[in-house]
Amino acid sequence: MKTGFIGLGAMGYSMARNLHKAGLLAAVWNRSPEKAQAFQAETGVSAAASIAELARDCDCVVMCVSADEDVLAVADALGHSLGEGALVIDCSTVSAETAKTAAARLAERGIGFLDCPVSGGTEGAKNATLAIMCGASAQDFERAQPVLQAMGKRIVLMGAAGSGQATKAVNQIAVAGVNQAVAEALAFARAHGLDLDKVIEVVGGGAAASWHLTNRGPNMAKMEFPLGFKVSLHEKDLKICREMAASLGVQLPIVEMTLLHYRRLIEQGHSDEDISSLYRLKRAMFDNPKG
Ligand code: NAP
Repeated sequence: MKTGFIGLGAMGYSMARNLHKAGLLAAVWNRSPEKAQAFQAETGVSAAASIAELARDCDCVVMCVSADEDVLAVADALGHSLGEGALVIDCSTVSAETAKTAAARLAERGIGFLDCPVSGGTEGAKNATLAIMCGASAQDFERAQPVLQAMGKRIVLMGAAGSGQATKAVNQIAVAGVNQAVAEALAFARAHGLDLDKVIEVVGGGAAASWHLTNRGPNMAKMEFPLGFKVSLHEKDLKICREMAASLGVQLPIVEMTLLHYRRLIEQGHSDEDISSLYRLKRAMFDNPKG
C-alpha cells in the first residue's frame, strides 16, 4: 500500500518515520513546509507541495493533525484528490461526530475512513508502540493492518466510524485523573522534604505505578515540562469528553477540575508545555497554603 502522511507534529513526525522504516511511505505533506523538508532531508521521502500532489502518489493517507476542523479540512481535500478505493486513516484526537462526518463525506466518493486515535505519547510514537483504537468497517480495518502495525502495538477495532474516538475520550478522562494524582502526590512529597527521584522509584514499583509517574515524574521533579502532550491539546480533548458526558446529563468531576486547572496554566502562558506542568499549580498550593 503506497502511503502518504499529513501532519508532521510531535506525534506525526515519528509515526511517519516508522512507516518509512516499514517501507510503506511514498510522500509526506505538512502545512508549514519546513517540517516536511526536514523529513525529506532525513529520509529521502518526497515532501509533496500540496495535499493534491501527495494524494496522486498514494492509495492510503494517514493524518495526525490538531482538532476537529483540521481533520474535516484535510479529509475534504483528500476526498477531492484520492482515487476510489483509497483509505484515509485519521490518528488525530477529535470528536466521534467529526469522525462520522468525515467517514460519510469520504464514503460518497468511494474512499474508506478509519478513525484511529492513538495513545502512548511521543515515546509510543517514536518506538512504534502506540495503542490504536479504531472505528471502521472490518474490511477497511483488515486492509489497513500493515500501516497500523508499523505505528502501533495494541490495535483494536472498537466498532463502526466514531467508536475509535469514543474510546479515546475514555482514555483522556483516565489521563486527566492520572495527571491530577501524580502531580498532587509529588507536590505533597516535595512539601514533606522527600527525595522525589526516590519517591518515583519506589512508588513506581507498587500499586500506584503508572506510565505517567515513570515517564513524566522525573521531569516534574526538575520543574521541566518538555513535550510530550500539550496542555492546549488535552484541554481540547477534555472539552470533547465534557460534551459527551453532558449528552448523558452528567458532569464529570475530574474533567471539570482539570479543565479549570488547564485554563489557569494557559492564562499563565504554559499552553504549549507538557500536561505534566499541572505540577506547577500543585506545588504552588503547598508554597502558598492560603492562596
Ligand atoms: P502538534 O505537535 O501540535 O502537531 C500538529 C500537526 O498538525 C502539525 O504538523 C500541524 O501543522 C498539523 N495541522 C494542524 N492543523 C492543520 C490543518 N488545518 N491542516 C493541516 N495540518 C494541520 O500536535 P501533536 O502532539 O502531534 O498531536 C496531534 C494529534 O494527536 C492531536 O489531535 C492530539 O490530540 C493527538 N495526540 C497527541 C499525543 C501527544 O502525546 N502529543 C498523544 C496522542 C494523541 P503545522 O506544523 O503547520 O502547525
